[in-house]
Amino acid sequence: MKYVDEFRNLRLAKRIAAQIRRIMPAGRINLMEVCGTHTQNFCRFGLDKLLPKGLRLISGPGCPVCVSPVEYIDNAIFLAREKQAIIATFGDMLRIPGSKSSLEQERANSARVEIVYSPLETINLAKKNPGKRIIFLAVGFETTAPTIAATILQARKEKIKNLFFLSSLKLIPPAMEYLLKDKRLKLNGFLCPGHVSAIIGTRPYAFIPKKFKAACCIAGFEPLDILEGLYLLLRQIVENKPRVENQYRRVVTAQGNIQAQKIMRKAFVQSDSIWRSLGRIPDSGLNLAKEFTDFDAQKIFKIRRITPNALRLTKCKCSDILRGLASPLDCPLFKNACRPEQPVGPCMVSREGACNAYYRYR
Ligand code: SF4
Repeated sequence: MKYVDEFRNLRLAKRIAAQIRRIMPAGRINLMEVCGTHTQNFCRFGLDKLLPKGLRLISGPGCPVCVSPVEYIDNAIFLAREKQAIIATFGDMLRIPGSKSSLEQERANSARVEIVYSPLETINLAKKNPGKRIIFLAVGFETTAPTIAATILQARKEKIKNLFFLSSLKLIPPAMEYLLKDKRLKLNGFLCPGHVSAIIGTRPYAFIPKKFKAACCIAGFEPLDILEGLYLLLRQIVENKPRVENQYRRVVTAQGNIQAQKIMRKAFVQSDSIWRSLGRIPDSGLNLAKEFTDFDAQKIFKIRRITPNALRLTKCKCSDILRGLASPLDCPLFKNACRPEQPVGPCMVSREGACNAYYRYR
């Protein structure tokens, strides 16, 4: 198949769904789709209506905006209030609530917050504003990390002195391991993220079947990709032969993108990272490597913690949703106090957030 329409063919979708129903065992099977784009397309194309009742698809922590911790947003807000600072960020970050404020509110209060579409834009921003200090909010997974790494290397090459990176970059496989250890989830397998896998390849998932005996399939994002991925997962479970399968062969290879991995290894070191709701996960983040300390906002600026307002998010269920323990429909604020134009929690902010996808499509 070559064209997108072919991956949305209803007749073929129904045929794969029939195969899924045919091999579906009695009882309940819990599969997690890690990536926010899978969640979005699963809802958008109404795939849940084609699947058997016992097959539960749980949304995982694969939305970079949703997993950025409150502390990180507070730090960004602290920096936004610095006199000479310009915060450069992807648009979704503006509306994520921190403890007391958001970057959107800070911008309304005259802080300079610029939206960029690529980290490389920050190089020009730094050159155009020599008297300012540009701080880029480096968030995302293995998918965005290579371009951020390339920007750091470019900034070094061009001897730029007024550009800094506040890293909250995260790695997906350690988070998957963390979730597999959570006995409440009873996960039978993962629909692995296609974009992340295009960078890291298939090998980093080997521990999933080996150590946890759970099924694993990398899948693309079109309806037929997702359905075929689910079928392959179910087949592993029924045959009791967990392994790493690759449905997304047109994009993902065993070794991944070696060039991108090389750049990442140059600019970053693996470190523990705090995920919103999940807490600290060992080796699940990327910090700037020692050679790039002069670009590291954490090291350069004396960031003072904002005292958190613990009451702010008490009714929001994002924390359970990100851990796979609740669905957006379980939240009393869903579609009432919380909507995409006025989000209460981070899962409603980005299009990749589970609450946002449920709001738009279900
Ligand atoms: Fe949080 Fe809003 Fe989702 Fe409820 S609907 S869990 S308040 S983001």
